[in-house]
Amino acid sequence: MRSVERLIAAKRDGRTHTTDEVQRIVGAFMDGEMADCQMAAWLMAACIRGLDGDETVALTDAMARSGRMIDLSGIPGVKVDKHSTGGVGDSTTLVLAPLVASCGVPVAKMSGRGLGHTGGTLDKLESIPGFRVDIGPDAFIAQVRDIGVAVIAQSDDVVPADKRMYELRDLTATVSSVPLIVASVISKKLAGGADAIVLDVKCGSGAFMKDESQARALADESIRVGEALGRTVTAVMTDMSQPLGYAVGNALEVREAIETLRGDGPPDLWELCLVLGSEMLVAGRVAADEVAARGLLADAVESGRALATFARWIAAQGGDPGVAEDVSRLPVGAHRRVVKARSGGLVAAFDGEGVGRAAMGLGAGRMRRGEPVDPGAGIELAVKIGARVDPGDPLATLHTNELSRLDEAEGMLVHAISIIDGECAPPPLVMEIRR
Ligand code: URA
Repeated sequence: MRSVERLIAAKRDGRTHTTDEVQRIVGAFMDGEMADCQMAAWLMAACIRGLDGDETVALTDAMARSGRMIDLSGIPGVKVDKHSTGGVGDSTTLVLAPLVASCGVPVAKMSGRGLGHTGGTLDKLESIPGFRVDIGPDAFIAQVRDIGVAVIAQSDDVVPADKRMYELRDLTATVSSVPLIVASVISKKLAGGADAIVLDVKCGSGAFMKDESQARALADESIRVGEALGRTVTAVMTDMSQPLGYAVGNALEVREAIETLRGDGPPDLWELCLVLGSEMLVAGRVAADEVAARGLLADAVESGRALATFARWIAAQGGDPGVAEDVSRLPVGAHRRVVKARSGGLVAAFDGEGVGRAAMGLGAGRMRRGEPVDPGAGIELAVKIGARVDPGDPLATLHTNELSRLDEAEGMLVHAISIIDGECAPPPLVMEIRR
């Protein structure tokens, strides 16, 4: 048996790889000696048999080193990156990047596109007319030095192993494996050059991790692996049993982020930005503790500094900075429909994934990698868990540019919102902070 096949067989039979073997697997895959079908088989074996702590550290390190490592050491200060494991309506990066930068912590972020039912920061940013996410690593570093914030697409030469492995995982039902997610997320953060990482680990019906014990395992393993590789990691476990804020969809979420930067956003989105932003300011050593950090963040919004930083950032990447003052410059779908409650009662639960899929159905997300998205498509919810509704009250407004998409999306959305005849309390937004 050739050595790559022996390594696949070893994992299939539940054996533990040495660090050299893990490096050999990633190296052989990148050199073309290990074919896609062989990597897919190894990923399935790893998904079923698991990877232990040392294997996960070795995989993360080998993936990070599979391409260019960005060097941010020329930028003064502690560089802090924030990463969400993926949620529905999660526009925190759009708020946090300029907000935290306006408090003196440089934000240099490489982001992804939408994955499955969850939206991607790049798609959201590209809904701003003219905005470019492909400015290249050198311009990226210069922009962070000049204005304190840049968010770009991960270029093909940064963590290429993750890009290719993720494509295979997406096609082979091997995404929801804790060690594979940890290696994917932390390798990108290592290669992106951050000194400290704040992770938002989403848990609930709209997240990849549906249950709390899996989300905690992901949080703890990310901290352990990041720290083994020399970074400071904090993991905030947050609720994703309903969409964050009210907007789901690219330009709709940009609009909600701008409203939040003006001090006028949804309370849950603003609170999550305060929690994650405080962790970033403390990690970036501009605030001694959470109380001081919350004060700085609130002042940045009240003084207009956060919104001004947002406009400078958008202009630096070719976008229309006028959207900061006038959100009507953002694209909107040509067709809209108000979805009404069919029965009265209390909004008790959302199938978050169902809401994400309804938004995808309207054109806000892609079924396959590489497909275009409709920047103006999406859902504006009118209710959150705990709201009381009468029959005929609005639950949401759907937006799309393709009329034919409305019926199916309406059906999906109605199924995704449970209305009961009883009582229920909204879930806590922040479940735990793990360090
Ligand atoms: N997000 C990532 O970047 N990678 C994963 O594997 C899952 C979510």
